[in-house]
Amino acid sequence: MKVGIIGGGVAGLSTALALKKANISFHLFEQASAFKDIGAGVMLSSSTKYLLHQLGVGNDFEKASTLIKDFNITNHHLQTIKRIPSNEIGYGIHRARLIEVLSKPLQQEDYTLNARIEKIEQNESGVTIDANNTTYFFDIVVAADGVHSVTRNKFSPHIQPSYTGQIMWRGIATLNLPDKFKNAAHEMWGKNKRFNIIHKGGDDYFWFCIRWIKDGIFYEEENLKQFLHQEFNDFPEYAHAVIDADNNIIKTPLRHIKFNNLNNWYNNRIVFVGDCIHACTPDIAQGACQAIESAYTLAACLKKYPNNFKDAFELYQFKRKPKTKFINNASFAFSRFSHQRKKWQYNVLFSVFKLLPNSFLQKKFNKTNDIAYMNDLQL
Ligand SMILES: Cc1cc2nc3c(=O)[nH]c(=O)nc-3n(C[C@H](O)[C@H](O)[C@H](O)COP(=O)(O)OP(=O)(O)OC[C@H]3O[C@@H](n4cnc5c(N)ncnc54)[C@H](O)[C@@H]3O)c2cc1C
Repeated sequence: MKVGIIGGGVAGLSTALALKKANISFHLFEQASAFKDIGAGVMLSSSTKYLLHQLGVGNDFEKASTLIKDFNITNHHLQTIKRIPSNEIGYGIHRARLIEVLSKPLQQEDYTLNARIEKIEQNESGVTIDANNTTYFFDIVVAADGVHSVTRNKFSPHIQPSYTGQIMWRGIATLNLPDKFKNAAHEMWGKNKRFNIIHKGGDDYFWFCIRWIKDGIFYEEENLKQFLHQEFNDFPEYAHAVIDADNNIIKTPLRHIKFNNLNNWYNNRIVFVGDCIHACTPDIAQGACQAIESAYTLAACLKKYPNNFKDAFELYQFKRKPKTKFINNASFAFSRFSHQRKKWQYNVLFSVFKLLPNSFLQKKFNKTNDIAYMNDLQL
């Protein structure tokens, strides 16, 4: 079996590593001139770290990332409302370092860069991809081309991302913060706004802040830093210090793909992984984790059914849909309840949150980390 992969982000690169491990032949196409990502951070969970070890890149990942031991939800005065009960919340890493870790084991003959795929056709005998004046032939193709996927738009146009109502500003800042910020994530909730600071190692922090803007229409800020200082004026000095220390702030309207029973995860010989099919809001830091889980599961299903890709795709979808549905719904729900508009709503929310037993949060947290559903699958 020969597999084509479209996209060299987290999902495409993880698929390549997993297929390599499963001894399945592949070739990856990436539109950019190099494997790279933007100047922002992500947090990956401990179960993802386990999968990265299975894929042979776990040690490099651990070297490039920072353990987050404390997840502290606070009000906008930095007073704790709730701590997530775990000493291994996850691992903070620069996006570009994660891409380096995932792409390092690939050989030059495994991929083609500067190859934006627009033309892709399938019939009973296979799939053809046109890239850089060459036609490539594959038995199946994995679409890992992200939330705005050209491939999904062509083969499953009814599946479309939607704007979630949130605008996010984010980046990476180098500055001196008190010790309580080390190996920790602080999520500060204020009226219809949130500000998050996560340790990335040494004096580096990745951060993001979010505002709920329902209609999605948003003006261009004339002076972005001034705008953010004003928007978050009642937040602690640390939030303002982080904004001042970052000269490359990125603005992102957040989108996700709503779960729907009609959302098939494959169309004949084309199968979808990552944000292309299960993009979620970043609220519980799971999109990249789920992309890696999907890549791993898909390769394991193809290994199990080397001569029957349809059975492999069915099993992949069967295994992955329930977990990603839970993640997408939980993530969106988190974004909804953490953005209240009125002071009394916050007071109620904080009181309820304080009363929530740790066992409840622990159960939800464990569910995001649960990969027991793949115990019967091997690479
Ligand atoms: C603000 C924000 C914060 C986040 N924080 C976290 C977090 O803390 N933890 C977490 O786990 N997740 C997080 N996520 C989610 C995570 O970033 C995504 O789920 C993940 O990057 C998806 O990877 P992907 O490979 O599916 O898509 P992408 O990263 O979008 O990669 C798609 C790749 O395909 C390439 N491509 C696209 N079209 C073509 C084409 N036609 N031909 C060839 N190549 C093509 C692109 O260049 C790109 O390299 C966050 C997301 C956002 C928006």
